[in-house]
Amino acid sequence: MSETIFEPGRELPVSSECDVLVCGGGVAGIAAALSAARNGARVTLLEREFMLGGLGTLGLVTIYLPLCDGKGHQVSFGIAEELFRLSIERGVVEGRYPKAWLESGTLEEKIANRFQVQYNPHIFAVDAERVLLAEGVHILYGTIAAQTVVEDGKITAVIVENKSGRSAIRVKSVVDATGDADVCALSGADCAVHGLGNVLAAWYYRYTKEKGVQLKMLGCSDIPEEYHTGKEQYLTDRRFGGIDAQEISEMVQQAHQISLADAMKLRETDPTAVPVIYPTIPQLRMTRRIAGIATPDDKPTHVYVPDSIGMIGDWRKRGPVYELPFACLYGGKVKNLITAGRCISVTDSMWDITRVIPVCAVTGEAAGAAAAMSDDFASLNVASLQERLVRGGVKLHCADVGL
Ligand SMILES: Cc1cc2nc3c(=O)[nH]c(=O)nc-3n(C[C@H](O)[C@H](O)[C@H](O)COP(=O)(O)OP(=O)(O)OC[C@H]3O[C@@H](n4cnc5c(N)ncnc54)[C@H](O)[C@@H]3O)c2cc1C
Repeated sequence: MSETIFEPGRELPVSSECDVLVCGGGVAGIAAALSAARNGARVTLLEREFMLGGLGTLGLVTIYLPLCDGKGHQVSFGIAEELFRLSIERGVVEGRYPKAWLESGTLEEKIANRFQVQYNPHIFAVDAERVLLAEGVHILYGTIAAQTVVEDGKITAVIVENKSGRSAIRVKSVVDATGDADVCALSGADCAVHGLGNVLAAWYYRYTKEKGVQLKMLGCSDIPEEYHTGKEQYLTDRRFGGIDAQEISEMVQQAHQISLADAMKLRETDPTAVPVIYPTIPQLRMTRRIAGIATPDDKPTHVYVPDSIGMIGDWRKRGPVYELPFACLYGGKVKNLITAGRCISVTDSMWDITRVIPVCAVTGEAAGAAAAMSDDFASLNVASLQERLVRGGVKLHCADVGL
């Protein structure tokens, strides 16, 4: 429809104020809020749903992909490791405890078993909530970042909507951890969308008497052909951009039908089969991102990056290590807006590497610390940011781990 309508302006109450407003409580938002609070900021974390973790809990993506390079070296540290440990503090799923990594295994053992794990989404979400509250983070659930007020190139307030109505939160700086760069788009920051869009995924949990509760992962991840095994399962030919409400609804409806049909098919041979948990947020991988000052690519690897905020491996492949630049977290238009998680600035081929949970934690930690330190990221002293990250246990450069 091309018809438009005028929405009358109105005065809004200021419901609260904070130093750092983290929008989105997925893994990136959790890491950002923790980091900002530990760096002395008054932090509010707002989340549209009523549980933390985003795709990592409500989206039922419960595999914490590797903190290592696949060749026996840990590369991601700091809050990425802290959240990894937290996710399995009360036990691992399916007995795959990463013993070699958590109990000083040999290099051979570490090469044989990557530093990854599967966790229980509910335990992880509630324990993350506990840790954030202990750090003094103010969590506001059921709250959507609906608009921003930008004055002289800075966001001065974020307009939110929740059960109490529409109100404004006054801010010094903002972390966009919405996964879809919603706050960037609302604020007029330059954004980009993924060229291919998303294939359909339909992950859900099902129960059978024999196997108990298990994660069923229908669909494949849309990795480059060089990684294909020939067993990829495409559920439909359609691709989804992920930033159109009608399209997302259709995608979710398709996923519902496919996972229900899967459970019912199993019931033909096992009458105890029943679906027990469906995702409550859409399973989208790469949608919209900020177009940042830097946009790193997946080639080359092992390159020294002067403004590195931490290292990451490639979950699909053994060997590659990347130092992520601070400049891929923010853009040139909105001075006090920084991104974390799956909406940072990277090329389409790098996006598949940076969208995963450990990387979201790495970028969240850096974004949160930076937001606590400054309301103008282009003029932030990167060396002081790096100093704080290192104090928190982050390793910035390949040379720091002997690579
Ligand atoms: C099918 C599938 C399989 C995957 N498999 C794996 C895997 O095995 N291992 C792995 O590590 N990664 C995997 N990933 C990727 C990974 O799960 C996610 O990319 C990662 O969890 C993203 O974290 P995030 O915090 O950046 O974003 P999200 O998890 O998307 O969190 C964003 C949060 O912001 C909230 N939000 C959004 N908009 C607003 C708004 N306007 N206002 C307020 N709140 C808002 C959302 O409710 C959500 O909680 C997979 C992804 C998919 C879809």
